[in-house]
Amino acid sequence: TGSLQGKRAFVTAAGQGIGRATALAFAAEAALVTATDIDGEKLASLSAHGISTRQLDVLDPHAVEDALRESGSPDLLFNCAGVVHSGSVLDAWDDDFDFAVALNVKAMARTIRAALPAMLERQDGCIINMASVVSSLKGAPNRFVYGVTKAAVIGLTKSVAADFVASGIRCNAICPGTVDSPSLQGRMQAAGDYEAARAAFVARQPMGRLGTPEEIASLAVHLAGAKFTTGQVHVIDGGWSM
Ligand code: NAD
Repeated sequence: TGSLQGKRAFVTAAGQGIGRATALAFAAEAALVTATDIDGEKLASLSAHGISTRQLDVLDPHAVEDALRESGSPDLLFNCAGVVHSGSVLDAWDDDFDFAVALNVKAMARTIRAALPAMLERQDGCIINMASVVSSLKGAPNRFVYGVTKAAVIGLTKSVAADFVASGIRCNAICPGTVDSPSLQGRMQAAGDYEAARAAFVARQPMGRLGTPEEIASLAVHLAGAKFTTGQVHVIDGGWSM
């Protein structure tokens, strides 16, 4: 038995990083987990943990509806898919901006629209959205599009929470600082001098280290069971924004 015994959980972007760690943490608490990712191959090793896997691009409206329905209507939805765009307002315009809004914001609304009707029927549902401290909470250099979209995730979260608070639905946002995930590794490698890039990311964390995907996953497990909190931003950032 676990704290999520019998709960159906649905996770986007579960192929690696925070999404993967969270799918595993939900399963460890005995939830019935459907792990999805645009890259189906990254999901393969999750099957050994009793997790159902399914290739899913959250930008595809019909695929999202089919996936939510066929996974048996989740009690717990973790919206983790997101993209980091690097640059200031001078470096990003229509294409990059539109893509980030579509993936980081609109796709979350899409999965919520697909998951909510069944949650409302049961008068019970928990939605967790991946935002960031780089949002309305904090500006970071070269994260213009990213910060705009993650601020929107906070607005989206509060809006959904307000509309459905009396119907048994909770909707919360997680705001991490810098987490050592495969895509962060990619950004550090792309910077040219890997060690210098890593040192710079670590330096902005007052705790002197990066977060781990498992630490973020444990907050998601906590929120799944925290029945008296909704519409809130839950910061987990090693003190970056304190
Ligand atoms: P990651 O960036 O390493 O992996 C992202 C995953 O998303 C990949 O498996 C990829 O295949 C998948 N994906 C990409 N496009 C998709 C799509 N259209 N549909 C479905 N899946 C798709 O993972 P991460 O760094 O742990 O980031 C996960 C989330 O956490 C993102 O929303 C990110 O913005 C947020 N976040 C990360 C950090 C960090 O420092 N890593 C900090 C704050 C917030």
